Amino acid sequence: MIRFHEMRIVDIHTHVLPEESGLALVCIGCGPMPQNADGHFFSAGLHPWDVTGNDYEDYGNLEKLLALPNVLAVGECGFDTLRGPAHELQEQAFMRQCELSERYRKPMILHVVRDFDTVIRLRKQLHPKQPWLIHGFRGGPRQMNQLYAQGILVSLGPKHNSETLKQIPSNRLFLETDGQSSINDLIRITAISREETVETINGQIICNNDSFLLQEP
Ligand SMILES: [Zn+2]
Repeated sequence: MIRFHEMRIVDIHTHVLPEESGLALVCIGCGPMPQNADGHFFSAGLHPWDVTGNDYEDYGNLEKLLALPNVLAVGECGFDTLRGPAHELQEQAFMRQCELSERYRKPMILHVVRDFDTVIRLRKQLHPKQPWLIHGFRGGPRQMNQLYAQGILVSLGPKHNSETLKQIPSNRLFLETDGQSSINDLIRITAISREETVETINGQIICNNDSFLLQEP
């Protein structure tokens, strides 16, 4: 069992192992688990680009991964209107992974490109207990607030709307590199934009990541 005080994740979404273990949630798709995974934390899921409708083996692997204590979230999964298979197939894959998220009691990290309406509709329809977080959010404050109103969280990466970064409430601040930048640079930019110290931002995101990823039984 992972305890709260052991967690100090700052980067909520990446695809590469951080130099220092435990500082990031590393997305590994449907596996395999990387070598020297000790001390690292992972999310596992079927990316919408990879959905074929014939993904039985992937779901089997996914279930095995989700049973592991260091796999803390389902994802990235979701919707992409610009890439990947037909919407219907993406939705089937999403529903299946939402079921797994609820069964294993692990939150979801979502990849959503130009399809927020679907995510809002499904959140209303399915009433999941687990939180959902849209990663790499580039929308403005208005769209952010529309998502919050439905109980959907967002995380900001190197490409973000600067007004959103300024306005995002402290207790909902999530940052990520998506494996493409340095989290410390992003934390510095965030601190300047919000007129806070780097230490404050660091503390806030560690705390938010904790409460997103680990729920008391
Ligand atoms: Zn990603």
